[in-house]
Amino acid sequence: MIAKVIVDVATSQTDRPFDYKVPNQWTSIIERGMRVIVPFGRRKVQGFVIDFQEESDISKLKSIDELLDLEPVLTSELLELGFWLSDHTLCFSVTALQAMLPVALKVHYKKHVKIKERDALPNEVQSLFKQRESVSLTELNKSSTEQMKQIQTLLKQGVLEIVTEIKERKTKKVIKVIEPKVDVETLKKEIKLLDPRAKKQTEILQWFTENFKEIPVQQLLDTLHVSRSVLKSLIQKQLLVEKERQVYRDPYAIASSELSQPLPLTDVQKKAINPILSAVSKEKRETFLVHGVTGSGKTEIYLQSIASVLQKGKEAIVLVPEISLTPQMVKRFKERFGEKVAVLHSGLSAGEKYDEWLKIHRKQVKVVVGARSAIFAPFENLGMIIIDEEHESSYKQEENPRYHARDVAEWRSDYHQCPLILGSATPSLESYARSIKQVYQLSELSERIYSQAMPTVITVDMREELREGNRSIFSRELVESLKESLARNEQCVLLLNRRGYSTFIICRDCGYVAECPHCDISLTYHKNKQQVKCHYCGYEEPVANRCPECSSEHIRFFGTGTQKVEEELLKLIPEARIIRMDVDTTSRKGAHEKLLSAFANKQGDVLLGTQMIAKGLDFPDVTLVGVITADTMLNLPDFRSAERTFQLLTQVAGRAGRHELAGKVIIQTYAPEHYSIQYASEHNYHAFFNQEMKIRQAHAYPPYYYLTSITVSHHELMKVIAISEQIAKVLKRQLSKQAVVLGPAACVIPRIKDRYRYQCMVKYKNEPKLVETLKTILSHYESELTQSELQIIIDQNPQMLM
Ligand code: ADP
Ligand code: ZN
Ligand code: ZN
Repeated sequence: MIAKVIVDVATSQTDRPFDYKVPNQWTSIIERGMRVIVPFGRRKVQGFVIDFQEESDISKLKSIDELLDLEPVLTSELLELGFWLSDHTLCFSVTALQAMLPVALKVHYKKHVKIKERDALPNEVQSLFKQRESVSLTELNKSSTEQMKQIQTLLKQGVLEIVTEIKERKTKKVIKVIEPKVDVETLKKEIKLLDPRAKKQTEILQWFTENFKEIPVQQLLDTLHVSRSVLKSLIQKQLLVEKERQVYRDPYAIASSELSQPLPLTDVQKKAINPILSAVSKEKRETFLVHGVTGSGKTEIYLQSIASVLQKGKEAIVLVPEISLTPQMVKRFKERFGEKVAVLHSGLSAGEKYDEWLKIHRKQVKVVVGARSAIFAPFENLGMIIIDEEHESSYKQEENPRYHARDVAEWRSDYHQCPLILGSATPSLESYARSIKQVYQLSELSERIYSQAMPTVITVDMREELREGNRSIFSRELVESLKESLARNEQCVLLLNRRGYSTFIICRDCGYVAECPHCDISLTYHKNKQQVKCHYCGYEEPVANRCPECSSEHIRFFGTGTQKVEEELLKLIPEARIIRMDVDTTSRKGAHEKLLSAFANKQGDVLLGTQMIAKGLDFPDVTLVGVITADTMLNLPDFRSAERTFQLLTQVAGRAGRHELAGKVIIQTYAPEHYSIQYASEHNYHAFFNQEMKIRQAHAYPPYYYLTSITVSHHELMKVIAISEQIAKVLKRQLSKQAVVLGPAACVIPRIKDRYRYQCMVKYKNEPKLVETLKTILSHYESELTQSELQIIIDQNPQMLM
């Protein structure tokens, strides 16, 4: 028996299956989708078994060394998807296969087989374990075929279980608890023996006779108002014992008794859900685009659609952008489906992620709610995929494999013949255009559930403010409205749209700007450390007090950071309680949730933050939303900048007046006449869509054309230019007359980490030879890509053009 194995060596020569002999004792055990260790050259490497055959053309075959799994980690669907991904995104097959597994499995972690029910173990297997609770898989690999086969069956029956030893930094919190070391009767006797003056000791023992259980030490001290030394003497007397306990802080855990019931749908919701339900019952592959303003009841539609899928005994995947994957959001799914829900998000440690993955793998859950990579959840009976906020650019992975979750979702819904639901208040132009062409079925929910009015939006022209002598970052309108809201004891959200714009150091005399010595980008000022920092490579230096160019002392920071906004606001409204959310205040694990719940508990009046506060939040007392600078993103050299601005403004506007209180939105801008700001303030998606489509057509951009970018980078500028010119030449020669090859040109950020960067762009409608040509290009530079510092990044349908 010969196994075809994809080895974990990422080069184009090794990007194909290699043949290995399967040792006889494993022929009845090994399956496709298992991982193995194989000899490769002089090394031992990991690999994926993808197929079997009886013969090989190679005469001197090596054998598989070790089985890493006793059950496949990749289903045959995911194997197939892996090859499609590698082709579609031009990455190596092994990279695509690895991307579908939790990180914990990407490294060579030790696996053990552990006994769950010793009594049910046959003697032959008992003997392998001897007196031990678990045995490493490496050791079991040496046992006989019969024994291995039995182990495999026992694993399926749940008598044995596979445990993966995952070493990770101690991220779990450990607390001290205390409990009785003796029984209740002894405790009672001891109380009588105590010195009558030892009142505190008596009190503690008394407590334990009444509550015979463990209690966190601190809690006991607090309840009884006793000191640690009193406790210590009881521990020394061997009456109590102190232990360490791990506390699992699962912010998404909820008790199953709180299950919520489906709401009776409104007519509009019914109209949207009916075709979905019918696709579920007919097991039809179809894509639905649910275009509904925030608060129009999309999530309820998702929940009821999932319920119908579960009723058919099938499973569902729900993708949510990482940033909206808040406890509030997850709670709605857990409240409806309880224990059947697994959650995958980046806040989990490798071990916790693996645990969630195992629940899916072992079919203990039916619904997965997660960020981008949850699209690879190993369900085998998938009945529905939902992508909420489908326009979000975070659905595109910005490293290999450079896939878009929407494309993977289309592939899987095709494979399982199940519906795919895309939802958004501001659908991407690509998706909305497809719904107009009836490739997707469109449902529009244009009103909020309780028919609350959309908030009033006021745009303030900041140039006008300046002309009238207001040099502050706050317009008079915004300050007045903030004061009014606070006086009414309501809450406000302030958004600082910071992408592509931040605080930098500039010399007022000569115009010198502090730049990173390794990247062609200005350094960002961090006030609390009095340092400037590069956001691309992490380079840091102290703030200079003299200009390095002209020695002037008039060198200072410029621009608006969240800290600066906070200071300014406090000058204007000293009594405002501000909760600031930005990279600095949310870098620690759990900080994000803490700040949000502080705001929810009304420990703050103003939530001030960057993009991260724009989405998914739902606070009943927020009546005012202020956007400090609406147009910073408009000036980015990216054809999607108007679309992103429109989306962001619409999203934040949706934060105001979600409940009984009416909402108001104030947008400060230097370009009030720009159509993306105009239409966002009118809540007019359709007008924006029509206008933007005209511009895309005129400039041959998506969705009228497809786009592929090829970015070349290296430490030597001349080399980068020569190679990118060569690539452009090949593309022009190989592709059809309809394809447009642009460049090469220096990238928007021409140097990062001392590497020069040039880019070519291909715009095309239909180029069957494109992938093949790109592959030829990659393999032509193969030796340089692996041996020298050359990097060529090919991005199909890029989301970022920086
Ligand atoms: P979206 O996902 O479009 O923002 P939601 O599904 O969150 O909208 O609905 C907004 C609010 O309306 C939520 O508080 C939700 O519980 C409520 N809601 C949704 N559908 C109904 C309904 N049919 N009847 C009553 N309340 C509803
Ligand atoms: Zn200067
Ligand atoms: Zn840098």
